[in-house]
Amino acid sequence: MCGIVGYLGAGNAVPVLINGLKRLEYRGYDSAGLALVTGEALQVTKNKGKVADLEAMLPPGLSASTGIAHTRWATHGEPNTVNAHPHLSPSGRLAIVHNGIIENYNVLKEYLLQKGHVFRSETDTEVLIHFIEDIYRSSASSLPEAVQMALRRVVGAYAIAVISADEPGTMVVARKGSPLVIGVAANGDFIVGSDAAPLVEYTKTVYYMDENEIAYLQRGKPMEVRTLDDRPVSPKLTELDLSIEALEKEGYPHFMLKEIYEQPRSVHDSMRGRLLPGKGMVKLGGIQAYENHLLESRRIIMVGCGTSWHAGLVGEYLFEELARIPVEVEYGSEFRYRNPIIGPGDVVIGISQSGETADTLAGLRLAKEKGALLLGICNVVGSSIARETHAGIYTHAGPEIGVASTKAFTAQVTVLTLMALRLGMLKGTVSEQRARALMRELDQVPELIEKVLQSDLLIQQIARQYQQAKNFLYLGRGINFPVALEGALKLKEISYIHAEGYPAAEMKHGPIALIDENMPVVVIATRKGNYDKIVSNIMEIKARNGKIISIVSEGDTQVKALSDHTIEIPQTDEMLTPLLATVPLQLLAYHIAVGLGRDVDKPRNLAKSVTVE
Ligand code: GLU
Repeated sequence: MCGIVGYLGAGNAVPVLINGLKRLEYRGYDSAGLALVTGEALQVTKNKGKVADLEAMLPPGLSASTGIAHTRWATHGEPNTVNAHPHLSPSGRLAIVHNGIIENYNVLKEYLLQKGHVFRSETDTEVLIHFIEDIYRSSASSLPEAVQMALRRVVGAYAIAVISADEPGTMVVARKGSPLVIGVAANGDFIVGSDAAPLVEYTKTVYYMDENEIAYLQRGKPMEVRTLDDRPVSPKLTELDLSIEALEKEGYPHFMLKEIYEQPRSVHDSMRGRLLPGKGMVKLGGIQAYENHLLESRRIIMVGCGTSWHAGLVGEYLFEELARIPVEVEYGSEFRYRNPIIGPGDVVIGISQSGETADTLAGLRLAKEKGALLLGICNVVGSSIARETHAGIYTHAGPEIGVASTKAFTAQVTVLTLMALRLGMLKGTVSEQRARALMRELDQVPELIEKVLQSDLLIQQIARQYQQAKNFLYLGRGINFPVALEGALKLKEISYIHAEGYPAAEMKHGPIALIDENMPVVVIATRKGNYDKIVSNIMEIKARNGKIISIVSEGDTQVKALSDHTIEIPQTDEMLTPLLATVPLQLLAYHIAVGLGRDVDKPRNLAKSVTVE
């Protein structure tokens, strides 16, 4: 959450900062701002609203060779212009942008108030820049030293960039708990970003900062990196594998729709080189060295938040069915604060699109302390989870910009399917015949998703009829229960319509009381997943005049006869149905949200890459 960009170089910072903010807007978009070193002073422009509003405020021809910028997802203080970043120090000579939370900001604020400081905003960030200046002015330290000293006293999470009007050609950046990438262009320009998206146009050579590191950037000199406790670090530069095209909308009205349509490719990419049906093999290089450990483990705990938690739930069905290993699925936020019973016999799999989700990361760290083996499933290469786990598997879904996750979810499920299958084959809990059949069917999934996407127009028509509904219920059984949860979450996130996902049979223990002629109920009723039972559940809804929108297997007649609307998906092995059944639910949520005029890619109050607890 919150996006940071910084530029220090020979060119003009303004377009780099604005374009960079636009690429990071998925991380937060309630306010935005920038600070430039112009002549002898700092010039700050900030505003409540989106990056485009900020851009419109800038005078034409504005130019500076050093600057920092921020797009905010507020944690401390309401989203308004005063609380927007950058924040200035009391003298107005230092400016900061910050992603994260300074947890002990109250103690620091108290100390500074006693010294006579006056604060303009309600943010934790302003306290930090005051504190930095307090140290800077009262000791004989340089700016990087002052930042370092201040950060040693800070409890919490941050990625920060600080500039000074007194040292125009420099910038100090640091990270702990929130990501930060430094790009180095061929001409020596530095571009800093919360992820690599703002950098990719200018350079592919990057340094992913590590935890507790602080970097001093000076124009025309190599970067200097030290740890917070002042050990020098020689930064290992890596080459980015990210194209600008992957970050553009390519003609789609929204990133979300583009990303839904990318799923045949992203699922394929997540399997490429891993699923080898011709050889009757699944190969997962990333975890190969730990396969025995996994097979001998007491249990597997999957940790995630939001959509990734749903992927974990699908994983539970897959691992237990195919590999017969007990699985527990935990919300990162609950797991980390519960004193969970974990030991060396456990494997903890952290699932996160960004690889930065604060609660998931903290859960993994806790499990590491307790001796568990940590594996990561994430999409962003070089992310914190990728680096802090013992091993892992990237999802290769490509950059996901839409705040509501779509292709990242199906890619996570693809990877979990491959893992479960691989372990089941090694363990002998899946017969060779079934394994081969599953491999063949999995190989077909990208094409089958392509077919599901052909229902887009039908789904759009259904969406139009129900967009005024106040509530939705989503039902599924077995492995499609988490799909129901995910369908409901998508609708909530982007349309702001209240929706609940439930295991179909649980309906009669409560939610059935809600059903009347105004309640649309989306039911996943594919042929192989407890079909007869779900037919009974549909009858129960029908008896109470609920409106039934069903996701059925191609050629179905029974559920179709009972439903108000049906969306067909191709037949496949039950274990693979989540990969297909999710897609119409994404489209349904998308079209309802568009019909209601919602900001689909940037739904209110939400942000992607949740780096705060
Ligand atoms: N705590 C800072 C603020 O509220 C940064 C928020 C964030 O990174 O999400 O302004």
